[in-house]
Amino acid sequence: MLDNLTQRLSRVVKTMRGEARLTESNTQQMLREVRMALLEADVALPVVRDFIARVKERALGQEVVGSLNPGQALVGVVHKELTALMGGDLGAEASELSLAAQPPAVILMAGLQGAGKTTTTGKLAKWLSDGHHTQGGRKTGKKKVLVVSADVYRPAAIDQLKAVAAQVKVDFLPSDPSQTPEDIARGALDHARRHFYDVLIVDTAGRLGIDEAMMREIRSLYDLLNPVETLFVVDAMQGQDAVNVAKAFADALPLTGVVMTKLDGDARGGAALSVRHVTGKPLKFVGVSEKMDGLEPFHPERMAQRVLGMGDIVSLVEQAQRNIDIAEAEKFAKKIKSGDKFDLNDFRDQLQQVKKMGDMGSLLQKLPAQFAAAAGQLQSGQAEKQLRRTEGILNSMTPQERAKPELLKASRKRRIAAGAGVPVQEVNRLLNQYQQMAGMMKQMKKGGMAKMMRAMGG
Ligand code: GDP
Repeated sequence: MLDNLTQRLSRVVKTMRGEARLTESNTQQMLREVRMALLEADVALPVVRDFIARVKERALGQEVVGSLNPGQALVGVVHKELTALMGGDLGAEASELSLAAQPPAVILMAGLQGAGKTTTTGKLAKWLSDGHHTQGGRKTGKKKVLVVSADVYRPAAIDQLKAVAAQVKVDFLPSDPSQTPEDIARGALDHARRHFYDVLIVDTAGRLGIDEAMMREIRSLYDLLNPVETLFVVDAMQGQDAVNVAKAFADALPLTGVVMTKLDGDARGGAALSVRHVTGKPLKFVGVSEKMDGLEPFHPERMAQRVLGMGDIVSLVEQAQRNIDIAEAEKFAKKIKSGDKFDLNDFRDQLQQVKKMGDMGSLLQKLPAQFAAAAGQLQSGQAEKQLRRTEGILNSMTPQERAKPELLKASRKRRIAAGAGVPVQEVNRLLNQYQQMAGMMKQMKKGGMAKMMRAMGG
């Protein structure tokens, strides 16, 4: 996500930090680079102009000039302004959904065809029913969610939502193309009330462009449903167009927020930076994969940190916590403490944990730039492929072999390699990795991180 922008801005940040003295000319030079980076990321020109003007004004002020480390202070200013640009001034709760209303809380999904409405409806339903929703930073528990499609123009759209709902295991209310969208909405609201749903998400029809009929229809659904959240779904790949469409919608419909999808693609990402400025509406979520867990709440401050190459450790930890099996992690911690033998079964469990943490690419992107670089040119796809191969090898072993790796002599290794469809060298490589890890475990047990670091050559 936003790789190029991050790379460019982290470079500028690095130079800025190193400057002991800020002069008119080196400040200008840095601002020029920030400006270029933003324009190249496809941030709208007026937004860039405004942003640079604000940073410049503050750069000349006491806050920077009078500080002990002006370069560092200037980075601080850029970070603050970037945060504000993306909606940071609204406070941390702006990215939260407000579901406090009398249940069912209705969420109305709007957007052009192909923007990712149906996918996002499924992701949101999962997010809410898994209990990730927060209010004032606190989790509010698992929600009982109902989804319905009011897209009567494309019967396939209704089927698609049905499939998505089944996938995320939330209730789907069937609708029929012979009904009017209003009838569907009324029926769904009634059903949700009678069956005590906490949340009703209404997916709507999208068109190829904005037209009057579409606006009228969504407006009448809005009046009828009185939603607590009206979310506009846009495709980041559309760049500035996405922002313009969002603005047109925001002018016609009281949107409460925007969801930007496909930020995992090769979108330059500028849309995510400009949408708040242009529409006046907060970006609440971003879609980062096609999968149903590929939805992340949007936090302006963290995003600013991320694009400046400072990483986003808070989100990283949250992502890990969302997906990690606490019981498993505790079991592992105990194992280390007790000094029990760490065998290949444990090794496999660990891999499964890593896999559960989520897609590698999105994890790596949250690390500060220098770490991500240290992780090598680790392409997300490659990391996952490697993980699958390693798993294949482990699965080709018998439980006994995993429990007693010393059993693995040449002939068994050949059998395992054939079973996993890899060369024998890969089996050896895995066993080496395991030996190293087992060695580390022993060091940890003996106490002494320092010793361990030495063993790692650190
Ligand atoms: P709708 O017409 O607005 O309902 O759009 P869909 O939900 O059918 O999505 C259109 C396409 O975009 C589908 O192929 C989705 O899998 C894909 N898509 C949606 N959100 C994301 C995302 O965040 N990342 C990626 N890579 N693909 C997405």
